[in-house]
Amino acid sequence: MVSGPSGSGKGTVCQGLFKELANLQLSISATTRKPRGQEQDGVDYYFLNREQFEAMIAGNQLLEWADVYGNYYGTPQKPVLEALSRGVDVVLEIDVQGALHVKSRYPDSVLVFLLPPSRAELARRLKNRGTDSSVDIEQRMQWAEKEIKEIPRYDYLLINDDLAETVQRLCAIVIAERCRPRLF
Ligand code: 5GP
Repeated sequence: MVSGPSGSGKGTVCQGLFKELANLQLSISATTRKPRGQEQDGVDYYFLNREQFEAMIAGNQLLEWADVYGNYYGTPQKPVLEALSRGVDVVLEIDVQGALHVKSRYPDSVLVFLLPPSRAELARRLKNRGTDSSVDIEQRMQWAEKEIKEIPRYDYLLINDDLAETVQRLCAIVIAERCRPRLF
């Protein structure tokens, strides 16, 4: 699982990971937030309304879910379990609450926290994205401060100051974790 503040570059780093390593699948989350920019339903997220999302919760169809900045976000369970049963590793780009919940259910899962090089750089990236209002940006900065406090509970911390290097370090984590003896 990869967590980190919006603007830490999670999406771009994970895209780099998928180009480098095989046998990996990205989990597409469901959310009630509105699509941003060029985002597409079924590609970036499954964009749902609150009733649809609550029906998924009630139907036990989510591996985890959380309320992030007032919107629901959750991981559809079926595709994750299917991929794992085929021996494919699954990458979840999710917030700290969700990641810690999954870790408690699946202690073998691996938590990676991604940070931008500085708070100033995080604010700059959020502003440059141009898709969020100043209220959203402020809210995301405050949320980031809250999440950063949980870093000690993570297995790995990556500072994303150089994209190519960060991708290489994430690949190294996946390769090393695949060598860890696990119970079958
Ligand atoms: P954004 O709106 O910027 O795409 O995502 C906001 C936050 O929600 C990010 O921290 C992102 O990692 C998190 N998030 C995205 N999908 C999920 C999910 O399925 N579950 C949880 N718990 N968080 C998610």
